[in-house]
Amino acid sequence: MTDLGQSYPRYLEPGFTPFDPLALAGRTEEIVCQGDRRKYTKFYCPGVYGGIATGYTCGCCLRCIFCWVNWSRDFPEKYGFFASPADAFHRLSRVARKAGVDQLRISGAEPTLGKSHLLALLEKVESSPFRLFILETNGVLIGADADYARQIARFKKVHTRVSLKAGTPQAFTRKTGAKPESFELPFRGIENLLKAGASFHVAAMTADPRFVNKQERQSLIDRLASIHPALVSNLEEEVVSPYPTTLERLRHAGVRLAPNER
Ligand code: SF4
Repeated sequence: MTDLGQSYPRYLEPGFTPFDPLALAGRTEEIVCQGDRRKYTKFYCPGVYGGIATGYTCGCCLRCIFCWVNWSRDFPEKYGFFASPADAFHRLSRVARKAGVDQLRISGAEPTLGKSHLLALLEKVESSPFRLFILETNGVLIGADADYARQIARFKKVHTRVSLKAGTPQAFTRKTGAKPESFELPFRGIENLLKAGASFHVAAMTADPRFVNKQERQSLIDRLASIHPALVSNLEEEVVSPYPTTLERLRHAGVRLAPNER
């Protein structure tokens, strides 16, 4: 099989069938990973974090309705090119040198797909002159694999940003398409990172009442506080930005973006 088949939605539409994100992760890895090579769509230096050389990965295990990532998330077989850990590091280094920055990042869809690729890349970063590497993730795979968190924690230059999508199981399914029982996986990912002593913080769309109401926000905060109070004080609360891909996915899902007022 060369694509995702019929078992998983590309993007959410009304009446979708909730899916197992770990099964989707496995299926997507068959498309975007070959040995320790992994698919990327581009490398460049955006202005976020004060300028950071970034590799944009291809393919994800969720289907968030507010996702800004290009269509490589939905159709990973059609986009991107394979890069080895050495090639990805070389591309990141070149972009960083050209832009005069000393920090690197992997973002885009879900960077933790392809564990062997990511860990080999982090080895290269750790022994390089670069100061910091930011790993952005939805936390699903780290929640299913405590060893993944321990491996990431070995790298002192790596800081992980775990982006939570919802505060209740029902909202998680509505916004990501994943089955409600998988709601706990990102929280388990946070527990695993904490236990492993990794450098990380948590982000959520909790500053956007169009997507997270007061009760859901409180529920998310209570769940984080039950793990560790510092997770709440360090919570990065953000809003949904109206990127063209975001608006298109919202349209498919039948959701209208109202003005942003709490
Ligand atoms: S927002 Fe992140 S976790 Fe959600 S579908 Fe997009 S890339 Fe995946």
